[in-house]
Amino acid sequence: MSDAKTRIAKRRPRPKHVPVQQRDFRVCLRSNPCLQSPPSGLRNDIEHGLQFLRQSQRILVLSGAGISISAGMPPLKGRDGLAEYLSEDLLYKTDRPRWYEKMRELSVAASKAQPTPFHEILVSLGARLHQHVTQNIDGLDVKEPGMEPKTFALHGRLQNLRCIKNPGHTSNWSEAQPGEVCESCATEPDMRNPARQVRRNSHMRPNITLHRESVPEGTSERLGQLLQDDWDLLVIAGTSLKIGSCYDFARKLSNKIQAAGGCVIRIDPKAATKRVGQIVNIDLLLPADAVARRYSSMPS
Ligand SMILES: [Zn+2]
Repeated sequence: MSDAKTRIAKRRPRPKHVPVQQRDFRVCLRSNPCLQSPPSGLRNDIEHGLQFLRQSQRILVLSGAGISISAGMPPLKGRDGLAEYLSEDLLYKTDRPRWYEKMRELSVAASKAQPTPFHEILVSLGARLHQHVTQNIDGLDVKEPGMEPKTFALHGRLQNLRCIKNPGHTSNWSEAQPGEVCESCATEPDMRNPARQVRRNSHMRPNITLHRESVPEGTSERLGQLLQDDWDLLVIAGTSLKIGSCYDFARKLSNKIQAAGGCVIRIDPKAATKRVGQIVNIDLLLPADAVARRYSSMPS
């Protein structure tokens, strides 16, 4: 055999290609001594997902409309979906009175709705859940005891109203209705002549941030601080992460968590997009409530 052929014969076989997600997951398993057995698969590997949920000590949950559907709140997409009402360039621009009416209906529905099994799981995670970041505006999460201090509602909450010109002018629905003149602006003294009051053209609207609107002051800083903190589990629940800023936050957090040996779980019955799939270790294609029930039934 020629030298060249000998070299080829002795050459080690190339390692089989391992997808990025699987490689990351193995890193995750190696660094977590409580998870010794290999994963049977990334999709619907609920046993491993539940183990991480049970044993992780610093958890951040990023949630979306999917966790509130079983409470009777509308989904983001589809018939009667919220998408038409949550974009600055759709109904808000074309038919403001109808938008106000829809916001009022949603607010009433949210006030009557009860938290879902998944919301209850957030409470049962106790001190191990350090932060809940939600895209939801329904406020169901903070109906649960102890959730207000650890919940960051990225897009505001329906339950509050604010002035369109001065966001610091706020009220609730018992004090004002959307479209009504802002009383604070109306009674604000004229700075050039404090003895006078000037009626300014400003009115109240639900204190939520619509798509394509600027986020409230401080939002980016708060998300940046969360990226600085240490986490060992990110749970992405009930959201497709279509909003670019939410996806970017999840991607950066996922990179950091996986580099430190932590894990990223996605919970949603709809398949992930390719780019979201790439930042997830375990993709549970199940409704959030189904995972919550399985978690609740685990022996403690
Ligand atoms: Zn005002």
